[in-house]
Amino acid sequence: MNCAEARLLLHAHADGELDAANSLEFGRHLKSCAACAAEDASLRALRTALRSADLNYRAPASLRTDVRQFVRDLEPEAPRPIVPLQWLWKWLALGLAATALAVVSLRPTGISEHDTQLNEVVANHVRSLQADHLMDVASSDRHTVKPWFDGKLDFAPDVQDFAALNFPLIGGRLDYLDGRAVAGLVYRRNKHLINVFVWPATGPMKHETEARRGFSVIRFTAKGMHYCLVSDLNPTELEELAGLLEK
Ligand SMILES: [Zn+2]
Repeated sequence: MNCAEARLLLHAHADGELDAANSLEFGRHLKSCAACAAEDASLRALRTALRSADLNYRAPASLRTDVRQFVRDLEPEAPRPIVPLQWLWKWLALGLAATALAVVSLRPTGISEHDTQLNEVVANHVRSLQADHLMDVASSDRHTVKPWFDGKLDFAPDVQDFAALNFPLIGGRLDYLDGRAVAGLVYRRNKHLINVFVWPATGPMKHETEARRGFSVIRFTAKGMHYCLVSDLNPTELEELAGLLEK
């Protein structure tokens, strides 16, 4: 990474928005470049200063009184509205209601619960790839990962390691999907990270493979649990892991 590239990532880094790979590269550059390191330090100092500064200012009560008085003084000179004000408000309210109704009825019905869930799954995956968001418990030992979920979830996810089959378990995370807490199991295939979301099944979910925003998503129900796999791994290989989890 050169200075120009590092400068582009400076703010994202300060906001914790870099993915693991970029964050690592950025960190390396800072170690070898005093100029960028100084820039980074000054940005951090500014953030800290802004956070700690008391930037709220409460207007004094006298200002409120003055403004009220000023408005009152203006009123007699204001021209009488042609339409009585209360009617104007009623028409406005009616217009807004009609517009809202039109928006509701014109809203495309294409955004189904299914799509919402897929979008959420991909968003969770992308967020997990940002620095420090991937795992709450980093371990390839299922005897460490499984008990970690105890007391954090109202169910016990089945945690298996498939290292022997080239899908090593690397950790777990608590995540949210459809407004409920779900287990997030993290697997790896070569350089690809795979998030597996697990939560109790409320009904059967057909085994489906889909592509969304460049990620493969596989969903199915097995052993009373809903599973949702998401990764940038190709669908064929991801399907292999799905098969292992489905067994
Ligand atoms: Zn530099």
